[in-house]
Amino acid sequence: MQLNVAEIKRELGARVEQEGTWSLPSLEVEGTEYVPVGAGKYRVEATNTGKALLVQGWVEGSFRVPCSRCLQDFSLKVAGDFEEEYCLQPEGEEGEEEGEEKGEEKVLSGDFLDLTPEFTSTLILHLPMKPLCREDCRGLCPRCGKNRNEGECECRTDDIDPRLEKLKEFFNR
Ligand SMILES: [Zn+2]
Ligand SMILES: [Zn+2]
Repeated sequence: MQLNVAEIKRELGARVEQEGTWSLPSLEVEGTEYVPVGAGKYRVEATNTGKALLVQGWVEGSFRVPCSRCLQDFSLKVAGDFEEEYCLQPEGEEGEEEGEEKGEEKVLSGDFLDLTPEFTSTLILHLPMKPLCREDCRGLCPRCGKNRNEGECECRTDDIDPRLEKLKEFFNR
């Protein structure tokens, strides 16, 4: 997403607001693939603070991903806020790169800010550790592999935690 900042980059205190949709990237995080579902949404506000443009925003997107318990694909909605500063280069000094040497600082060049990297990293930061199709997902039966959300399987119901299995053997002696 390219934000046009031509109108505000020369005026202290000037501000631009924009909202809309953006094309979601597919993500791969720790071996899990997140496939975009439709377009993402965003709201951003950029303010000229004198030396920099301060950009504050919110992004949202939905991804198709397998549930970490029952392994069924479902649509996961992810959203988050971000804040980023882009240094303004003093007029007429483009080329003399004092600015670009300042470590991690981002520098505005031209009339557009490409916010896609910010949007993408904000979503990655807000991904759940273990995506679940629903909070009380019952997962798969460890014996037959049946999806327990779809009903009970034929397995015996005295299934117990493998750590307790040892205790049970002990007491049955
Ligand atoms: Zn599930
Ligand atoms: Zn079973």
